[in-house]
Amino acid sequence: MSRLDSFIRRLTAQRACLDRAAEIIRDLDGPVLELGLGNGRTYDHLRSILPDREIFVFERKVAAHPDCIPDDAHLISGDLAETLPRAAERIPAPAALAHADIGSGDAEATARNAARVAAALPVLLAPGAVVAADQPLDDPRLRPIDLPEGVAPGRYHLYLRV
Ligand code: SAM
Repeated sequence: MSRLDSFIRRLTAQRACLDRAAEIIRDLDGPVLELGLGNGRTYDHLRSILPDREIFVFERKVAAHPDCIPDDAHLISGDLAETLPRAAERIPAPAALAHADIGSGDAEATARNAARVAAALPVLLAPGAVVAADQPLDDPRLRPIDLPEGVAPGRYHLYLRV
């Protein structure tokens, strides 16, 4: 598989998982959490498929397309290591959906991010909330659920907050 093929498959899996997560939480109240704004592509997708939800975005260095930057009330700036444990002060209700796209070329930093998110994210979520993630999240409060058809295991991850 070429790198182009691999990139396209990853983004296709990402979109399919976000769409599936949005479908599952249709009847669950609560905001959406976006961990890692990046270019703002998935933030833009989330706001287009969930237009009535508040979306809180965590990012340490905003460099997204200007159209894809949330207002100050919805941007939680700083490193996840500091912002996630204190995020309940900013988020008005338990979240119904979280998306964590926090991987990078640095395997150690990525593993640290995943461990932090797995430990600190569940308390911000409502029971029945769904997490979509680019990294595996290992925590007993997050139960893996089936991936959409066509998404290979390990390519993306979906969890239910139990
Ligand atoms: N989903 C985004 C999109 O569609 O454009 C791409 C996200 S990009 C892969 C990962 C983002 O997470 C980067 O913008 C990076 O700055 C941010 N990030 C990574 N580790 C972080 C950390 N520890 N704290 C805060 N932000 C972090």
